[in-house]
Amino acid sequence: MNERHLRRRPLSLLGYLLISTSAAVLGACASLAAESVDPAEACRNLARLTDFPVAATEITLAQFNPSGTTKAGDVALPDHCEVQGIINKRTGADGLPYGDRFEVRLPIPAQWNGRFMFQGGGGTEGAVPAATGTAGTASPTLAAGWAVASQDGGHENKDLPAPNRFLLEPQAVADHAYGSIDVTTRTAKFLIDAYYGHEPDHSYFVGCSTGGRQGMVFSQNFPDYYDGIVAGAPVYDLEAIALTEDWGVQAMAAIAPEPVEKLANGSPILAPAFPVEDQKLFTSAVLAACDRLDGVADGIIDDLPACLAKFDPATFVFPDTGQALQCTGAKTATCLTPAQINAVKKINQGPRNSLGEKLRAPAGAVAREHADNTILGYPYDGGFMSPAGIPSRKIGTPTAAPGDLAQGLGQIPYVWMSPPNPSFKALNFDFDKDTANLNTSTPLVTYSTSLDISKFKNRGGKIIWYHGVSDPGPPSLGTIKYYEELAARNGGVDETKNFARLFLVPNMGHCRGGPSTDQFDMLTPLVAWVEQGSAPDRIIASGKNFTAAPTARSRPLCPYPQQVRFAGPAGGDLSVASNYACMTPK
Ligand code: CA
Repeated sequence: MNERHLRRRPLSLLGYLLISTSAAVLGACASLAAESVDPAEACRNLARLTDFPVAATEITLAQFNPSGTTKAGDVALPDHCEVQGIINKRTGADGLPYGDRFEVRLPIPAQWNGRFMFQGGGGTEGAVPAATGTAGTASPTLAAGWAVASQDGGHENKDLPAPNRFLLEPQAVADHAYGSIDVTTRTAKFLIDAYYGHEPDHSYFVGCSTGGRQGMVFSQNFPDYYDGIVAGAPVYDLEAIALTEDWGVQAMAAIAPEPVEKLANGSPILAPAFPVEDQKLFTSAVLAACDRLDGVADGIIDDLPACLAKFDPATFVFPDTGQALQCTGAKTATCLTPAQINAVKKINQGPRNSLGEKLRAPAGAVAREHADNTILGYPYDGGFMSPAGIPSRKIGTPTAAPGDLAQGLGQIPYVWMSPPNPSFKALNFDFDKDTANLNTSTPLVTYSTSLDISKFKNRGGKIIWYHGVSDPGPPSLGTIKYYEELAARNGGVDETKNFARLFLVPNMGHCRGGPSTDQFDMLTPLVAWVEQGSAPDRIIASGKNFTAAPTARSRPLCPYPQQVRFAGPAGGDLSVASNYACMTPK
């Protein structure tokens, strides 16, 4: 019995045990008592707890799920306790119901590995995901003995007249920004303590997109909560990202041939602006320009900086045919119009005013020690024009509108225009005039743009970022920029790699997808880093959607600024990770 098992015992459950269990069970160690009680009964008893860390907590479910009765995907879940509840239940200033709903799933004490994982949210949240540990992990961590928590961001979409409506209610914005993940963390640790008799030995956060932002919120504002954080594709400067998305869709909308077909909900079909065959032509051009810069023509651009320095679609000429990418005359199947090239270049450059100047998102300038708030564009990469890349969010398909219309773009009228104006058409946002009407401060940005994670670092915390280079939502350049600025204030990359590492995934879209190695497990190496001090020098990833042979490949991901290089014999197998090495570019 170590000291940890004796600390911070919840009197309420202990009191229950004193009444309901035999004296023989109750030794000096109440954790043993908890383990000796029938785990199903102990689970149901969690509904009787009081003295929650946040007073206004209501348990709505405390249910024991026997092994095999519940699943996560195809995986049968083991015996576990499922707890649901709501914290800070309230009626909003808008008359709508709000509250931080959460779920915690607890393996039985005999199967608990002593660890806690917070499963991050996605998009604007609005529903509690099953807390099975499936987000950004190789398999449900609940089945591997983890205690897992999730939450809804402080609102339920089913209670709202429109998904973005909560963005008009200030407390609901704060809850989605940081409040809900704060109170859910504290409540989950309390429940863990109550069920097992002690708090987790180690706590981890794993999330992508909004979950990635939440990971950064924890590292900056709640540095004591988690020992390790995985922050994938973080939307950490949401205002800037919304404007990047708007700018990109506007670039395509501007060249869509009239009349533009519209869906029943009024969203435009923009695919005729840049049809799939033109997308493939663009991809062949960027690969012809950049694929071999890393030494191997394998459909992956591993030397991204060299590509960005070299490739200009307006001047690119295919070396084998002498054909220019940009049409010099009429549009043909082998060239793109100057208007199409211009639209692509705008998406690459990011928002500018009519003087050609880069813009800044004002809300990003509020957090202490904030990261650069320049609004960015998207880097040319092998997956830039793959279906999971720019087309998924800025172009759409012949039957679907650009995805951004329902993402950051759709939020502009609700939260990025000040005052909010839900009837404002974000596609009409004027990058000269309307920039004066942008929200200058919101916790959705100020809680995630600080470069000061010194408290997290100083207590031994480790953080892993990952980002698909071809992400068409939050630009991967934003995460690279944040990491470089973090390194600059922490003694350089070598020093910073002692507590923070960034893994870029070439060709990958938002959190997954694309002809890429988008299957990977960041949590296992993070655990080894936190608990054994073994830092991840490479993380093996795999994918089976490459468009050229071998279509299934396994490759390492390398800690930035290292890059992957093929290190096997000439003509060797591109599909095995052991044929690759991480190297530092000169
Ligand atoms: Ca290559």
